[in-house]
Parts: sequence; C-alpha cells; structure tokens
Amino acid sequence: MDTTLRGVGVSPGVAVGEVRHMGTAVLEPPPKRIPAGEAEREQGRARGAVDAVAADLTARGARAGGEAQAVLEAQAMMAQDPELMTEVERRISDGSTAERGVYDAFASYRELLAGAGEYLAGRVADLDDVRNRIVARLLGVAMPGVPDSDVPYVLVARDLAPADTALLDPALVLGFVTEEGGPTSHSAILARQLGVPAVVALPGAGELDEGTTVAVDGGSGEVFVEPSAEKRAELERAAAARRDAVAASSGPGATSDGHRVPLLANVGGPGDVAAAVEAGAEGVGLFRTEFLFLDDSTRAPSEDRQVEVYRQVLEAFPEGRVVVRVLDAGADKPLDFLTPGDEPNPALGVRGLRILLDHPEVLRTQLRALARAAAGLPVRLEVMAPMVADRTDARAFADACREAGLDAEVGAMVEIPSAALRARPILQEVAFLSLGTNDLAQYTFAADRQVGAVSRLQDPWQPALLDLVAMAADAARAEGKSCGVCGEAASDPLLACVLTGLGVTSLSMGAASIPYVRAELATYTLAQCERAASAARAVDTAEEARSAARAVLSGG
Ligand code: PEP
Ligand code: MG
Repeated sequence: MDTTLRGVGVSPGVAVGEVRHMGTAVLEPPPKRIPAGEAEREQGRARGAVDAVAADLTARGARAGGEAQAVLEAQAMMAQDPELMTEVERRISDGSTAERGVYDAFASYRELLAGAGEYLAGRVADLDDVRNRIVARLLGVAMPGVPDSDVPYVLVARDLAPADTALLDPALVLGFVTEEGGPTSHSAILARQLGVPAVVALPGAGELDEGTTVAVDGGSGEVFVEPSAEKRAELERAAAARRDAVAASSGPGATSDGHRVPLLANVGGPGDVAAAVEAGAEGVGLFRTEFLFLDDSTRAPSEDRQVEVYRQVLEAFPEGRVVVRVLDAGADKPLDFLTPGDEPNPALGVRGLRILLDHPEVLRTQLRALARAAAGLPVRLEVMAPMVADRTDARAFADACREAGLDAEVGAMVEIPSAALRARPILQEVAFLSLGTNDLAQYTFAADRQVGAVSRLQDPWQPALLDLVAMAADAARAEGKSCGVCGEAASDPLLACVLTGLGVTSLSMGAASIPYVRAELATYTLAQCERAASAARAVDTAEEARSAARAVLSGG
C-alpha cells in the first residue's frame, strides 16, 4: 500500500527518485566503553572503515580528475596515516568504541595541525571531513554534507543552508524534501531558482530510508513513499500535462478571460537579466540595488559605477517597465559605512528608507545615477523606497526624487503593516505601491525572517497577511493607482491567482517562477480568482487558506 506524507509544496512539479539524505555536519559518537574482549573486533571495524573511506575518496578523485583529484587523494592519505591508526588502536585498547576512538584520535591530530602554521592549519577542514566520513560509516548513518552520488536523487534534509546548497550539483538534484523550513526559507528559494519540485515542513522526512523511492509533488505538498506503478504513471501524466501547459504558455500575464496582470522579474543586477528576458518577463518589478553596495561594505560605489550597472539593466527592457528599489541596507543586509552597529533589534531599527533619510547624500547620488542611466532610453523607469512606514516617509522620498530631477514614477513599498493600514494617505504622495510580503509577514507576525523556529508565521498564505494585501490593493484601486507584489508570495502559482483576486495589479518574482505563474493564471477567470481569494480570507490558518483556494479553483 502506498504511504503518503504531507508537507508544504513550495516549488511545483513532480520528481520521482531515490532518497539521499544530507548528512549532519558534526557527528560526535557517545563516549561508550567496551569490555576488553571486544577491543580486537572494534580495531578491525575501525581499520575496515578507514580502508573503505580511503578507497572511496581515491575512486571519487579518479572520476573527478584535475585539481579535485589531488585534494581527494591527499584526503585518502590522511585517512590511512599509520600514526593516526596507531593512536586509534591505542584508544580502542583503552576501552573506546571504534567510532569514539577515531573521533578522539583525529581530535588530537587536529590540534597538532591547527597549531602548525598557516598551510597545515588550512588542512584542518579536510581532516574533519575525513573524520566525519569514517565516523559516519562506523555509525551506519549518511555521510555528512551533500550526498555522494553519480545518479540523480531526491535530496532529503532537515533544512538547507546557503553554504550547503552552494555545493549541490543541480544536474543531480531531482527535487528537495525538508523537515523544517517555510515558503521563504533558503530551501524554497533555491528550489524555485533551480526549477525543481520541493516540499518543505514535512514531519518525518528525516526517517525516510536512504535509497527509498519517493515521488515528490511540489504543487500539492505530497510525498508518496514507494509509489505503485499506477501512482507513478498518474503523477507523471499530470506532471507532463503541466510541463506542456508551462511550455505552451507565453506572452503577457493574464487570466483566462483576459484580465491583464503583468509578470515582472526580481533581479539583483545585470547578471540576472538574461534569465528574466528568456522567461518572458514583461519588465523588472524589483531591482534590489543593495547587491551593488554589498560588494564593498566600507563605502558606497561611485556614481559612475552605479550609472554603468543601472544602465545595463535598463537597456535589457527597451519598452518595458523597470522598478528600481533604492538601497535597502540594515538588518539582514548591514553595511559598515551606513548601519548603526549597536542596535538591540536591527530589524526594528534604522534600516531601509530610514538610513537613506539619515544619509541624504547617499540617496542623492543614487537618484542622480538613475537619472543619468535612464537618459535617452525608451524604458519606463520607476523608483521605489523600501520600508515606508507612513505618509511622512512617503513624502520625504518623493521630495528627494523631485529634488534630484528624476523623470520617473515614484512608489512606496508596503512592508510594514502601518503602510497597508493607512495606504490611502501614502498614495497622496506616491504613484504606486509594491507589497514586499517577506518583510510584511515578518512585521505582521513579529516573526524574524532569519529564525527558522518561527517560519510557520512567515507563510504568505496567512489570512492576516492576505487581509493587509487586500487593504493596500483596495486603497490603490480607490485612488486609481497600481499595487503590485514583489515578495516571494508572487512566485507561488496558486497564491498568485489569489493575489490577483485580491486586486493586485502586477506580480514580480524570480525568473524561474514566471512560466509556472503565467500558466496557472491563464487557467482561471478573474471571477474564479476573486472567489478563491474570498475563500482564503474566510478561514483562520495558512493551511486552511491554501486548501480553500485550491478547492475553489479545482472545483471550477
Ligand atoms: C520583501 O520584503 O518582501 C521584499 C521584496 O524585499 P526583500 O526580500 O529584499 O527584503
Ligand atoms: Mg523587504
């Protein structure tokens, strides 16, 4: 019989493959004692594990070739260092288990290396990796870090940190399943970037046996364990139909009855532009300019350098709309020359627009650079400020743009609940709103974006968040102005339909999500989207909102 597990689908599509676990970073075996009679057997186990790890490292080196081969062969030699083996055996004779003997012997060797000058100290990480491999083999658990596999697999992890994912070979990862994490977690963002199906927040994911075949449905959030042939065929048929629909979708974003919702791209700089154009983005809905500033956190980039970078992005969308967000520094994006280092709560401190109003010369330079970059181009430049709290903020930003002589529409991001609650006064100062749902969720639920323990509250399906989106969209409609979404919420195809039903006028997301959102949106009429939005707001939890919207849309 099939077993079905349920989590949160965060990146659509279906992946069928074998489970490979992301190993835990540090494996410390318990300091258990063994009777003297078992020492010889334990020493044999230790030698066997060392030889197997050395052979595995050598074989992987031969496959990799080049510089990687030299590194892996050096690691194999470390594993087989005779002095280290003597130390392991001595510890086992004194009553350690094989795994604890290896762990402690490597620890003393590690200290020697760490104190032995720069070059050898640099090898400590390699030594730790060898130790972890031997200990993992002895404990019979997954190897630490990214799985060693030559064949594509479904990656199962507790959660994925950016440092882990940097080592992943995208060609080998069919999909992700994580026990923790939410829709704005790194696992979810990375999966969407790679375009692979992903399910997060799946209780019991860690207990799936290595090598088990699973089918991951990144749309519904279901994971089928050892699916039957019929189930696999059914899922593969549905996935193929979806792929065809996505491949066939092109052109501007619209519902099936022709209600236009421009689909725009979120970019961090010129490097993201090609993917956006290829995905058919109708422009840029969020250009996060802070990446340019993060290169050197001790000073702002020169005006000329800024002009050069902005122009490259603006030129890519000749007739399109490009919404540039001015520098959003502070909190999770500190800059030494701007952000106060001594704030008790940086997310609630001087960040975003607040920093720019304290440093008008930085804002002036950026606005001047934007004006110069857009000069002579047919592009529709729009400029918006992050972290606008109220009308006073909005007016200060609009004044700064006017003083800089900028020929662009000026807007405000809605990332603080006060801005959604009092959106109409803000719209007396600016021409458009853009909802930053990542921060809006953070501030609505008092739930730090960077803290995994509160990720449940970061779920953009939370009805309270949908209420705030509706308030901002209603205010914009009443003022005859536009209100887009540029937070991660826009990249969830089902939620994109709900946001449309709430009255949002454009959706901006990572380029890889655009075809999925376009295809989903084209499936329903505006009236269906509005009914799904009402159903999602009529319940009390994110899960209920998701199910209610899905029920309305799948019921026709
Ligand atoms: C947001 O907060 O939703 C947003 C788009 O801005 P960032 O993620 O860059 O803070
Ligand atoms: Mg934000």
